[in-house]
Amino acid sequence: MQGSVKYTYPADGFYGPFGGAFIPELLQPCVEELRSQYLSIMAEPSFLHQFEALLKDYVGRPTPLYYAHRLSKHYQSHIYLKREDLCHTGAHKVNNTIGQILVAQRLGKQRIIAETGAGQHGVATATVCALMGLECIVYMGEKDIVRQAPNVQRMKMLGAEVRPASSGSKTLKDATNEAIRDWINNPSDTHYIIGSVVGPHPYPDMVSRFQSVISQEILWQLKEKTGNENPTRIIACVGGGSNAAGAYFHYLERESVELISVEAGGMGVHSGKTAATSQIGTQGVIHGSMTLLMQTKDGQIVEPHSISAGLDYPGIGPMHAHLIQSKRAKVVAIEDDHAVKAAFLMAKLEGIIPALESSHALAALDELELKPNDINVINLSGRGDKDLNTFMNHTRHE
Ligand SMILES: *Cc1c(COP(=O)(O)O)cnc(C)c1O
Repeated sequence: MQGSVKYTYPADGFYGPFGGAFIPELLQPCVEELRSQYLSIMAEPSFLHQFEALLKDYVGRPTPLYYAHRLSKHYQSHIYLKREDLCHTGAHKVNNTIGQILVAQRLGKQRIIAETGAGQHGVATATVCALMGLECIVYMGEKDIVRQAPNVQRMKMLGAEVRPASSGSKTLKDATNEAIRDWINNPSDTHYIIGSVVGPHPYPDMVSRFQSVISQEILWQLKEKTGNENPTRIIACVGGGSNAAGAYFHYLERESVELISVEAGGMGVHSGKTAATSQIGTQGVIHGSMTLLMQTKDGQIVEPHSISAGLDYPGIGPMHAHLIQSKRAKVVAIEDDHAVKAAFLMAKLEGIIPALESSHALAALDELELKPNDINVINLSGRGDKDLNTFMNHTRHE
């Protein structure tokens, strides 16, 4: 990207004060091998060719940019949905796992590890390992294995080994520790696939580049439909921030385009049961990067809460910490109930059942001042089949 580049990444991996690689000495060689090679690998014509071909024929890209007629009428403003829910496996995550598996192959790695909380990233990783015939080990907290049984079954059917993390709170954080331990012990043959724009440099940059295909498509699709590449605003939910990073990427330096980042308010931003990291978080290191995170005064991580598993994360990618702190992006927090309501509205008005995560982005329409001529692009990060039980149980209790 040319001109005054303020928000895309500088070579040292810092986004303003956030980012970097704060990792144990023993992990340095693994991360450094990746850091020193990822940009040149990603620029190889053979890499680009293979990546584009898989995105087209395997993932089903380009995903449509759909003008939501009835939703637009309801809100009295133009609403376009970027249909990442139509990607193979049902969400945007596969854009990144395909990219990383191709990098891993070129680094000569035979073995893939990943950690997963809700299991979505584990499934996306198991999928591409099957596609490429690589060994796949997914670390998952013991508690999460019980809570997310269907995704565990999917991973197993795809040929992955799911290894339980039985220390600590037996959730994502513990699975991450196990994965890091594995990588340290198997540096030469193993690649660690991280699922969002989090972790030490170069992961946030690498993952946002793989996901940037989303905004690359929005540019021409919107031009085709409206005559203008630029919408009024782009709205995306932020867990770690990879779907948002992808939807924003080519618009980061176009400051007339508003970026709306939607966090999970949970039961309320100040209720103690929330995942609104940017609002109640403070600066610190999580998963190897300096960013905003939910922590106590003495640096203990505060357990997040969100009705949606994909947004239930105590940190936020460093790119987003910077976008929010520099006021390039505006944050909206959406509570559990509101997200569920937005999902039902969407289902009834458009015949699309959105993922709970994406429903947060939809609900943000209620919190913005929309004008009749505004062009709103919502990144519909995933589909809601996986959330049906939650939708049904939640409304029954109302
Ligand atoms: C995982 C997930 C998210 C959250 O992850 P990001 O890295 O913030 O995009 C959002 N939506 C869906 C459908 C997901 O599966």
